[in-house]
Amino acid sequence: MCGIVGYTGPRQAYPVILKGLKRLEYRGYDSSGVALLHNGQLNVYKKKGKVADLEEMMIGKSLEATIGIGHTRWATHGEPSDRNAHPHSSKSGRLAMIHNGIIENYALIKQELLNKGYSFTSDTDTEVLLNFIEDIHQHIESGSLEEALRIALKRVSGAYCILLIDQNDPETIIAARKGSPLVIGIGKGEHFLASDASPIIEYTKEVVYVNDYELAIVKPDELILKNLGNEKITPFITKLDMELAAIEKGGYEHFMIKEIFEQPSTIYDCLRGRLDAAAGMIRMAGVDNHIEQLTNANRIMIVACGTSWHAGLVAEYIIEELCRIPVEVEYASEFRYRNPIVNKGDVIIAISQSGETADTLVALEKAKENGAFIFGIVNAVGSSIARLSNAGAYTHAGPEIGVASTKAFTGQLAVLMMVALTIAHHKKTITQERYQALLNELQDIPEKVAAILKNAEALRKMADKYKDASDFLFLGRGYNFPIALEGALKLKEISYIHAEGYPAAEMKHGPIALVDENLPVVFIATNDLYHEKIISNMQEIKARKGKIISIITEGDTTSPKLSHDYFTIPPVDELIAPILTVIPLQLLSYYVGIAKGIDVDKPRNLAKSVTVE
Ligand code: GLU
Repeated sequence: MCGIVGYTGPRQAYPVILKGLKRLEYRGYDSSGVALLHNGQLNVYKKKGKVADLEEMMIGKSLEATIGIGHTRWATHGEPSDRNAHPHSSKSGRLAMIHNGIIENYALIKQELLNKGYSFTSDTDTEVLLNFIEDIHQHIESGSLEEALRIALKRVSGAYCILLIDQNDPETIIAARKGSPLVIGIGKGEHFLASDASPIIEYTKEVVYVNDYELAIVKPDELILKNLGNEKITPFITKLDMELAAIEKGGYEHFMIKEIFEQPSTIYDCLRGRLDAAAGMIRMAGVDNHIEQLTNANRIMIVACGTSWHAGLVAEYIIEELCRIPVEVEYASEFRYRNPIVNKGDVIIAISQSGETADTLVALEKAKENGAFIFGIVNAVGSSIARLSNAGAYTHAGPEIGVASTKAFTGQLAVLMMVALTIAHHKKTITQERYQALLNELQDIPEKVAAILKNAEALRKMADKYKDASDFLFLGRGYNFPIALEGALKLKEISYIHAEGYPAAEMKHGPIALVDENLPVVFIATNDLYHEKIISNMQEIKARKGKIISIITEGDTTSPKLSHDYFTIPPVDELIAPILTVIPLQLLSYYVGIAKGIDVDKPRNLAKSVTVE
């Protein structure tokens, strides 16, 4: 979380930084700020709230500078406020720094500094680290800031990406990373630094992804990478494969709705070049090159957080059904601390949109140490999880900027489906007919998603009707149980309505007590093995006067009679249904959020790319 931007070169730094912060705002929007260095003067401006609030405050300020750093915050230490906003200034005023992450041992260091007579103007861990660096800097013989930083970082535990500027060095940004992402864009006589490539893309496509425990000394004409042992490292330059249009709203009111509507093409892009139903085959290099490892897995553990964890739950059902390999799905935050049993021969599938999710990343490092094979399913190309994995497959959904994940989720489901089918085919746990039928079904998915989106207006009307409810219940069975969880999560995230997802039958063991005439209950009740059972569950809710909203298959004549409102999706194989059933739930949440006047792209307290624990 938190977005950072830096620039050094011939351009005016402020417009580059401001635009960059707007692109990175999905990562945090508690406050934002910039530090601009001009003629030996370091001007720091910061403001609680969104980047637009900073922009307004900057009118009439001195913006002249060709070097600067900027930050958009997701608070961890200290409330969102002007004084806790970054950049922070050192005690002497000579240094300014921005930080993404958490300095875990900050309290100890702070005490040391307090004993030396330091005082602090904010509650952040960041200000502590900055003054720690300054203190070391003032006491080392070499007088080198870079050396002071190296010494400081060796004492620090936690995660960071920091950018540091020195009033006495008019051209240099010093950066360092451990656990939080950093990309450096290489221009002609200029360099751009950012948390992801979106602020860089319109200036250059040549980038360097900085690794953990690396330091970058960045000047307009020079980029030096070093490790903490002061050894130089040759920067590995990567070409960005991303267009500017992909990170702009393209006429939509919000990124979230743009991303929902992009799904026919993002799912198509995910399948393209991999799935060839006519030829009866799937080609995925990440799977094909490791097929024995995957097929012979003793078990598969899926590690993820949030919406990605829901994709993992769908995959558990599908992989066990098709491949007959035991699957466990774990929250990364639990997995990393609970001393799990991971053996050689286990396969870990890590699912993450950003590829930077801190908990997932550390969980993987741990599993890798124990000899597990890591397969990453990631959206952000070149991200940390993608690089840590032994093999993997990108979801190819393009940059997802709306904080509530939508197109990345359906991309994850499509990839997981192809992985499961490939393993099952190789392991011969699926018949040729069933394999071919599922390939055909998968191929038709983008068209069916497009058909659902054509009826979005019906969901807007439903949203208007139910927007004032204080609670919602989402119920599903089998492959659609995780979609009930996802529907509830989406609604909570962007409408602030309390919602819970349950397996439909489990509802009798508690949640049914909540049902009365005010409670909307969303059933995901498409035609599958469990259809009759879920109809009985609807009867149970109806008997208690709950308001039933159902997501059903075209042609179902029973569910509409039991429902106050219903939405139909095209017929689809039950294994693939989750890719379709989630779409109306995404739309319903979006329209409820809008009807309540919520900034759905930046819902309160949330941020995308959770790079802190
Ligand atoms: N820990 C720092 C703070 O609370 C940085 C948080 C962030 O990554 O935005 O200010």
